[in-house]
Amino acid sequence: MKFYPETYKLPDVSMQPFIDADELWGYIQSTAKPTMEQVEKVIQHALSKNRLTLEETAVLINADTPEMIEMIKQGARTLKEQVYGKRIVLFAPLYVGNYCSNNCRYCGFKASNKSAVRKTLTKDELIENVKALEEHGQKRLILVFGEHRIYSADFIADTVKTVYSVKKDHGEIRRVNINAAPFDIEGFKIIGESGIGTYQVFQETYHPETYAKCHESGKKADYNWRLNALDRAMEAGIDDVGIGALFGLYDWRFEVMALLRHVNHFEACYNVGPHTISFPRIQDASEYDLDDKYKLTDQEFTRLIAILRLAVPYTGLILTARESRKVRDEVLSFGCSQIDAGTKLEIGAYSENPHVDQNLHKEQFKINDDRTLNEVIDELLDGDYLPSFCTACYRKGRTGQHFMEFSVPGFIKKFCTPNAILTLAEYIVDYATESTAKKGWQVIERNLNEMDDNYLPEVRNRIERIKQGERDLYF
Ligand code: SAM
Ligand code: SF4
Repeated sequence: MKFYPETYKLPDVSMQPFIDADELWGYIQSTAKPTMEQVEKVIQHALSKNRLTLEETAVLINADTPEMIEMIKQGARTLKEQVYGKRIVLFAPLYVGNYCSNNCRYCGFKASNKSAVRKTLTKDELIENVKALEEHGQKRLILVFGEHRIYSADFIADTVKTVYSVKKDHGEIRRVNINAAPFDIEGFKIIGESGIGTYQVFQETYHPETYAKCHESGKKADYNWRLNALDRAMEAGIDDVGIGALFGLYDWRFEVMALLRHVNHFEACYNVGPHTISFPRIQDASEYDLDDKYKLTDQEFTRLIAILRLAVPYTGLILTARESRKVRDEVLSFGCSQIDAGTKLEIGAYSENPHVDQNLHKEQFKINDDRTLNEVIDELLDGDYLPSFCTACYRKGRTGQHFMEFSVPGFIKKFCTPNAILTLAEYIVDYATESTAKKGWQVIERNLNEMDDNYLPEVRNRIERIKQGERDLYF
């Protein structure tokens, strides 16, 4: 199989480009200076669990007085509580290799960065890193790859299979997501068959001219190949995909509109939106060479997450360790349902095995939150959140689960909360420090007290089974 076919033919209308920059700017311009009533009306529409239209989203983008912004954030908090409750799903990124033939101007892995030390984890190193992650209690990973012919579909599929095969004591990885290059349909099929969860490809910027400026050479220079990447994934049977934009490359207002347009595209073509949206914000990187014109303030960043929460109520929002703890703490209350924890971006850094050369540790960009998994869990518990490692839906074949959480009455009560409690109980028994364990049982007890009598006895029964040594009990 060729990594990139030279003469790729767009098979059908779902693969046609769907971003019209003038149209998106047109909505932003035509909704300028909205009134409080207009803004409130849009928020109410979102709170009735509707995905917002482009025009409604543009109204929220233009709502820029302090009162309006607070109203939007409050609306997002209400929606988040109604739809997602207190659960926060935890995962960790595992960088497998940083060879790259692209030249994204913002990324430390770019081909032209001669100071980057290139490294791909050997199979042994991969296994050691996965064991180390399991020893901390991780159950969900996202594997990250540079874009290079050595990271072929077969290589990625093999890596996924190896990760699933590694078991350390009670530890195992139950969901492997991928953030890697776009493939053709055949390539996506190979990767899909290895049993992945979500496949993520971020468009970085949806603005064609800015895209061209940031990606001058390499395969990633092809805007449409990337824009339609996840359509090819869907065609290949990967029905769980994640979109994203790298905020700071172009005007955040445009990117929010374009992300929504991308969601519309999926709904129109496949009757289901993407599983997740990510919104990495540009961080300093080795040989970073972009100006700061579109860099966002924390206020703009938290505001755009609140707008996204309202615009796409049923899509998971992922925040990463690129953000400071302060920003993370704020947006957890009104936007995000998934965060990474215990993150290390240097290749091979999870493993402490001395045969991994410390000089080879090279990271793609700087992170601002280096708390361990236990520290993050501890602080989530302090905030009365319910940390979750749940992987039940995709293993039970309940795909499109975020839509179900949103639309199937009682879904969260029946599945999500019990599964979050059971995975937290496992974490407490196997990995938590004494003080975290104490807080964890208290949070579990509070959640059990609010649980429907129909489910309570079985959940209590399963917690006892976990204490007796059984694992992986899910609904
Ligand atoms: N090579 C694949 C690709 O480009 O899609 C996947 C791996 S790439 C390392 C994953 C993501 O990291 C990119 O999609 C981009 O959004 C993000 N990224 C790159 N440079 C960054 C920077 N300086 N700050 C924050 N995020 C960055
Ligand atoms: Fe390579 Fe991805 Fe970095 Fe671009 S963002 S240089 S494709 S690793």
